[in-house]
Amino acid sequence: MGDLLVVGSVALDSVKTPFGQATEALGGSATYFSFAASFFTTVRLVATVGEDFPGEHLALLKNRSVDLSGLQVSHGKTFRWVGEYGYDLNEARTLDTQLNVFADFKPSLPAPLRRTPFVFLANIDPELQLDVLRQMERPRLVALDTMNFWIDGRRQALLKAVAEVDVLLVNDAEARQLAREPNLIKAARTILGFGPRAVVVKRGEYGTLMVSDDHFFFVPAYPLESVFDPTGAGDSFAGGFMGYLAKRDDVGADAIRRAIVYGSVMASFAVEDFSLNRLVRLRPEEIRQRYEAFQDLVRFELEP
Ligand code: AMP
Repeated sequence: MGDLLVVGSVALDSVKTPFGQATEALGGSATYFSFAASFFTTVRLVATVGEDFPGEHLALLKNRSVDLSGLQVSHGKTFRWVGEYGYDLNEARTLDTQLNVFADFKPSLPAPLRRTPFVFLANIDPELQLDVLRQMERPRLVALDTMNFWIDGRRQALLKAVAEVDVLLVNDAEARQLAREPNLIKAARTILGFGPRAVVVKRGEYGTLMVSDDHFFFVPAYPLESVFDPTGAGDSFAGGFMGYLAKRDDVGADAIRRAIVYGSVMASFAVEDFSLNRLVRLRPEEIRQRYEAFQDLVRFELEP
């Protein structure tokens, strides 16, 4: 079993959807990722929070055995994100982003963390993603996620980071924006030209697509009747995806296909409640059952 390191945001999120709202709830790309991945393997979290970060949130991460030796408590306020969704839950509207303690976070990874074989550069400033990547010692697989905020504001640094990773995970709008190409397949091919070996495009309720030089793979989203808050779906997907690969210590094509299904399973749970509430209540047997349900969802035979 390979360990997994993540750098990304640990946040207090204020989110409004047509079905309710949460104020200053636990969130952040690295938080959702760590929670989801912790069902598969040991996760080491690299991030910073301010002195205002509630101790009960840290306790939730510790309960999932997340290694917090790379989590720095800095002088100042925790990262905050304010967003809302309309009836089309596939599209988040950012109302406010306060980087706070992330504005000048410069992590120096303890030696044992530098040797972690699986690395996830979760959504955060690409300069910080590069900084962490440069400290790693020959990782086996590196994946990266990002969002419009950084594609707009830090394009050059982001392209540098994308060139150095094995897998890029983005949603459809981000793929189009990064590639500057409206057709999604062409956009994925353009991004492959930037350097990664595979591009995983998350399409919310429409499923997930993977494109590499010699592979094309598609998995639908789990057909849920009640979605309360899509925040964290992408990071939970990444947690299932990377968590599974690290657990199997396998980066082959078949393992990547199964990892995409595990990613879809974890994302489907994350959206069933606000903040991390559903992941906190999640039991391992529910993950297995939903994985099996996915197999049923896409199984069909060739005509005899
Ligand atoms: P997603 O999985 O794409 O829905 O990501 C949601 C999480 O991303 C939220 O919990 C936010 O705290 C976090 N987030 C939002 N904007 C940013 C940003 N600019 N940098 C890092 N994290 C962010």
